[in-house]
Amino acid sequence: MNSSNWSVEDAVNEYQILRWGDGYFTVNAEGELCASPSQDPNGHKISLAEIIKEMKDENIAFPCVIRFHDILRSQVRNINKLFAKTIEEAKFDGKYMGVYPIKVNQLREVVEEVVDAGLEFSYGLEAGSKAELMTVLTYNQNPKALTILNGYKDKDYMRLALLGQQIGRNMVVVIEKFSEIHLLLEVIKETGVVPMIGVRAKLTSKASGKWADSSGEFAKFGLSVPEIIDLIELLKEKELLHALNLFHFHVGSQIPDIRTIKECLTEGARIYCELIKLGAPIEYFDVGGGVGINYDGSRSNQPSSTNYALADYVGDVVYILRDICNDSGVKHPSIVNEAGRVITAHHSCVVTNVFGNVELAKPKDISTESNPEDHLLLRNIKHLYRELNHSNYQDVYNDACIIKDEAVSAFKLGVIGIIERSQIEGLYWNICHQTLSMTENEKYVPGEIKKLKFVLADKYLCNFSVFQSTPDSWAINQILPVVPLKKLNEAPTKECTLADITCDSDGKIAQFLGPDGHQPTLALHQLEKGEEYPIGVFLTGAYQDVMGDMHNLFGRLNEVHVYGDQDDPKGFYIEEFIHGNSAAEVLRVMQYNPEEMCKKIKSEIDKRVKTGSIKPRVGVKLTDFFEAKIKDYTYLSSF
Ligand SMILES: *Cc1c(COP(=O)(O)O)cnc(C)c1O
Repeated sequence: MNSSNWSVEDAVNEYQILRWGDGYFTVNAEGELCASPSQDPNGHKISLAEIIKEMKDENIAFPCVIRFHDILRSQVRNINKLFAKTIEEAKFDGKYMGVYPIKVNQLREVVEEVVDAGLEFSYGLEAGSKAELMTVLTYNQNPKALTILNGYKDKDYMRLALLGQQIGRNMVVVIEKFSEIHLLLEVIKETGVVPMIGVRAKLTSKASGKWADSSGEFAKFGLSVPEIIDLIELLKEKELLHALNLFHFHVGSQIPDIRTIKECLTEGARIYCELIKLGAPIEYFDVGGGVGINYDGSRSNQPSSTNYALADYVGDVVYILRDICNDSGVKHPSIVNEAGRVITAHHSCVVTNVFGNVELAKPKDISTESNPEDHLLLRNIKHLYRELNHSNYQDVYNDACIIKDEAVSAFKLGVIGIIERSQIEGLYWNICHQTLSMTENEKYVPGEIKKLKFVLADKYLCNFSVFQSTPDSWAINQILPVVPLKKLNEAPTKECTLADITCDSDGKIAQFLGPDGHQPTLALHQLEKGEEYPIGVFLTGAYQDVMGDMHNLFGRLNEVHVYGDQDDPKGFYIEEFIHGNSAAEVLRVMQYNPEEMCKKIKSEIDKRVKTGSIKPRVGVKLTDFFEAKIKDYTYLSSF
């Protein structure tokens, strides 16, 4: 990194903003990270630093989720327009009838926005549980759109589906395991109402990536080919084959490799054609979700990436299906897809501040002059330090490691004292720092020396919880982009890892994307006293937003919902501020009664006021303070 001629273009490259951002994020001339909802580099920009200023004015503290509703709307339009355009180009006879699977982000404002943006495209919703079903029943009021029901189902799930059918919704009950058809037949008999029936196939084509187990013969959901044939026989017998309107498969989320998609489409399309020939009047070919996000910017078939863009995916769906239908002489169905991740991932991010840092082993000023009175180990490591140069650093480093270990043993045996141990350890870290800076510009550096960069990295402490805000980075090593929101016109000079505020050693982010692929540290700026250093974790809009837990009783985050506005002096307006959980709210979930807690503390204080060990004035203050804090945000406050 050359700090003197660093430009914002270098920052764009360092943090790979164009690669993961899909045009939705950029840097302005002032070095601030900006959202650009139009995906146009010369289009309208919204500075995140400006949003943070406004947040502060409204007393909305870090950490905070920022939702860009324009990005959400844009993704809904993008997928619908891409399918429409490709269908037209391919002279495909069916329509596109997409649905948004709400499990990806069930927040009401997100669902409402998706439904609203999808209105002109008859874009529907998908649910996978009873609570989700009640949500999609209430919010998918578009009479043209589909409501697709996946997941395991009981009788009440089926009854709720038929309720939807009775109020004019296009309900599709997807049979995920064979016995569900018996439940459905029973409730159809009960009510006389017949919904559309779908069948989910278990494909043998296997997905790769972190969700590979959703596909293949041993997958949790779906009917095998023999079971599908049995289903058709059963429906024929019950004179309900006319209701079998949808054929579905879903082979897993975040599919990294387009070849998987092609294979599944081919197998699925072949099954579809055969089912049509068997007399099933299937109208909809539902390819499920699984479109991946290029989280790490690498555009590869690695689990945190994809080797295809949305347009490639859409092209494959339409053309493979068309060709197989044409070959079999079967009519083109309408295409349904249940892409979730790709709709919501970009629209939200978590912003927080770095409130401190931990340096494991700062370089220390320790004399290296030889002194005959020193213990042999100290004399030896001083000697090593003086000898260290470009040609022997690996040797010196190895020897220094040995001396450090020996010093610990010697200390345990009482051979050296604590001051000598401290000097030897200090010199060891000094040698590590020296070695690392010596090799900074070298082409080849041995692996163990490279690792020093990680060992010596600063831990930047961030006011958030990995378990609440980025659960996949903890659970499945999902890489998420992290970018400072200001100072992008200055060279970052510190190599860092990030630690959260939970009391859990897993509460950290130690895998980042960078110009040379995945790396164990992230380049950030030196923290300056009295200056706020805000950072953002991006692409958290899918799953991360809603899957987090309350580890350490850190609750849901504050939120701001932002819309771009060209006529506004700042270029945006905040439509809504939502307060995150208070301590009282998260305590209630764990069965505590906050009022009772306040009473208990008050009575303890009162007792001490009576005996005189606490002054009455102080007692009142302490009581008020406790009562105020139990109503407060669960995260660190900067006041
Ligand atoms: C989870 C799920 C989806 C959404 O998958 P994405 O990878 O987010 O696109 C779609 N359909 C079904 C049946 C699912 O279970």
